[in-house]
Amino acid sequence: MEKLQFFECNKCSKQTFPKKFFCSNCGNIDFDLIDAPEGKIKEISVIRHMLGNKDWQPRKIANIQTDTGVSLTVGIEDNIQIGDILNIYSKDGAPFAKK
Ligand SMILES: [Zn+2]
Repeated sequence: MEKLQFFECNKCSKQTFPKKFFCSNCGNIDFDLIDAPEGKIKEISVIRHMLGNKDWQPRKIANIQTDTGVSLTVGIEDNIQIGDILNIYSKDGAPFAKK
């Protein structure tokens, strides 16, 4: 399990993911890489079809929000529910979250 990296403005400390060209809070263009903090599941959805893939197995994705104000979409396991606090990590370059 590889930690997902967030980008933290090195002037005002606002965090973002993915990286932006400049900080939406102060306009600074320099960011530090930090490990993604835990996040709370806000909404869950299921991807039931994938174009060009006849053997697709339905899988869940969720909107997760951190205490630092970052909101992103992650892949999740089936046993996750809204309100769960999860660790955010990187799997094959994509954001995932688990207990
Ligand atoms: Zn900033």
